[in-house]
Amino acid sequence: MPVETLSKDEEKAQFLVTDSHFSILNALRRAIITNVKTMAIDDVTIYSNTSSMYDEILAHRLGLIPLKTFPELEKSKKEVVFSLKEIGPKVVHSGDLKSSDPDIVPVYDNMVIVSLKLGETIELEAKAKFGDGSEHTKFTPAHVFYHFYPKIDIIKENVKNAAQIAAKCPVNILEAEGGKLSVKKGQLSKCILCKACEEFAGEDVIKISSNNKKIIFEMESWGQLSLKQIIDEAFDSLVEEAETVKQKTLK
Ligand code: SF4
Repeated sequence: MPVETLSKDEEKAQFLVTDSHFSILNALRRAIITNVKTMAIDDVTIYSNTSSMYDEILAHRLGLIPLKTFPELEKSKKEVVFSLKEIGPKVVHSGDLKSSDPDIVPVYDNMVIVSLKLGETIELEAKAKFGDGSEHTKFTPAHVFYHFYPKIDIIKENVKNAAQIAAKCPVNILEAEGGKLSVKKGQLSKCILCKACEEFAGEDVIKISSNNKKIIFEMESWGQLSLKQIIDEAFDSLVEEAETVKQKTLK
């Protein structure tokens, strides 16, 4: 199953997988979404809240703030508590949360929690715990999906409205240099198979389809874990599940 990295930075990666079946990649996608554990705020005690935001919404917002996670801490069952005490006027951000552990902090400091007007107060304590996406989506470590590799057949290159056809592409991978319609060099994999160009120009000009033997697997971390940690943890969980099935079926 050859895997080629099409693009990669700290948060996002795009892989091209050939000679595989989408069910294998779907198993990996599901393992990432539901099996990989991260930390998130789960229990909030509100001592004071005179803001216009209901307690429940406030607690829900806190739960959705991604927290830096260290998988090895799970075994220690260490409790991490965040405290927040603010008075308005102030826009309260994730960076205002004070953590009992300097390593477990919000991934992003600039997420707005609540806007306090003059004199409004907020005081709370929030406990974070480990969990996975099967319990609540707030524990999911990444946005992950796959799609088949695009195939673009330009049937008529020289058409009067080539520039208009190219302008229909939402990801800007088509060009119309000298009235000749083409796909920009090295940009084919960015096609999102929306068919906007085909619907506008007609199938007799441009035909969009996909190559089912090549699959693009994309993931974007929410920041709790690195991409490598997410993939490692997901594969470990799949191996563990396969072992369980093996043991049960061999009984
Ligand atoms: S299918 Fe959509 S993304 Fe792909 S080339 Fe056409 S307009 Fe662009």
